[in-house]
Amino acid sequence: MKQQQIMEEAEQVLYKIYNRFPVVFDHGKGVTLTDVDGVDYLDFGAGIAVMALGYDYPGFNDAVKAQVDKLYHISNLFYSEPMAEAGRKLLAASGMEKAFFTNSGTEAVEGALKVAKRHACNRHMGRDYEIIAMKHSFHGRSLGALSVTGNDHYQEPFAPLVPGIRFADFNDLDSVKALMNEKTCAVILETIQGEGGIYPATEDFLQGVRALCDQYDALLILDEIQCGMGRSGSMFAWQQYGVKPDVMTVAKALGNGVPVGAFLASKAAARAMQPGDHGTTYGGNPLVCAAASKVLDIFEQDGIVDHVRQTGAYLWDRLEELMARHACIVAHRGRGLIQGLEFSVPAGPIVENALVKQHLVLISAGSHVIRFVPPLVIRKEDVDQMIIRLEQAVTEVYSGVSASPSGSPSMEVQ
Ligand SMILES: *Cc1c(COP(=O)(O)O)cnc(C)c1O
Repeated sequence: MKQQQIMEEAEQVLYKIYNRFPVVFDHGKGVTLTDVDGVDYLDFGAGIAVMALGYDYPGFNDAVKAQVDKLYHISNLFYSEPMAEAGRKLLAASGMEKAFFTNSGTEAVEGALKVAKRHACNRHMGRDYEIIAMKHSFHGRSLGALSVTGNDHYQEPFAPLVPGIRFADFNDLDSVKALMNEKTCAVILETIQGEGGIYPATEDFLQGVRALCDQYDALLILDEIQCGMGRSGSMFAWQQYGVKPDVMTVAKALGNGVPVGAFLASKAAARAMQPGDHGTTYGGNPLVCAAASKVLDIFEQDGIVDHVRQTGAYLWDRLEELMARHACIVAHRGRGLIQGLEFSVPAGPIVENALVKQHLVLISAGSHVIRFVPPLVIRKEDVDQMIIRLEQAVTEVYSGVSASPSGSPSMEVQ
């Protein structure tokens, strides 16, 4: 079997930082991935919420190929048309004022944190250096982004991290209020917590945090790397809350797999950074910006966000039914095509069974949650097929398991 050989070689040469699933993918079409032995898988993970348009979407690959043949890197010492265009379209979709392109989500978060620090420096010589972040958040793995990631397991081996970061409870406005003072320069949070287990911010919470930021003249940074780009049922999740951030981050689906992220800023935050304050060699090169630009065109021309609203509602109903049939499923959260099912038992074995036995790609979020972040172009038939395979996996792994009485009640927002 070809797969075995490739996996063994990979294990020999690659730094052992990931525990990978035992499959070697070769190509993709639509929402189907095919391994090197020719076996097809239904993809409900989208490369971790990245492949919004699935694989080989009409016109997308051609746009990327055309740019490869034209020009794909020039550095940020020069202008390029794809960069100007991608920037314009991103600002139009978000209503923000300025864009900076990065190579990843983590780097978008780093940039956003630097905007907050720079803004503080401009106003009070940096005396207001504190940043409030959320417990169970995820913002990335570089030292700055890790510093605002509320997860001891990720942070502890790398301490001490950036000073002045304080952690509040997500969806608990009082806990933010208690940490907020004249030293606070920014609050950073995911509009919908992704890695933490798919927790949408409540409306009261997000509006309350916005009001606190206004009161203390602190920047509100919304991380939309996972929940943005149409996934929540609006182009950006915060657009459903009647608030607007000062800074926001976007990545994952922005390039449909071509590595590109961005931080976007408005008002004072859009003027805080000066030439020389930040930089990147690759960031926003013509190749990745041509990809982002094409993604944004397709979103508009093909009504991707409308499609998410419809398919998301359909997925919601099918998952509600599944939950009613299985006592080991204790909660269902999310919006649009970012949803999570919480189990009273570890989700890992279900994810593994789904992949290996049912040929369904799913990903977890933490130990007890399966997250559903499929390509945004899935159809109702794909949802039906996913439910059949997932149910088979749940039954095979946990037949007869009932809900633990301590199964925590969780809020449900849709
Ligand atoms: C994935 C993710 C990041 C990090 O993005 P990378 O591209 O992996 O660096 C940051 N924030 C959120 C909310 C994410 O989901």
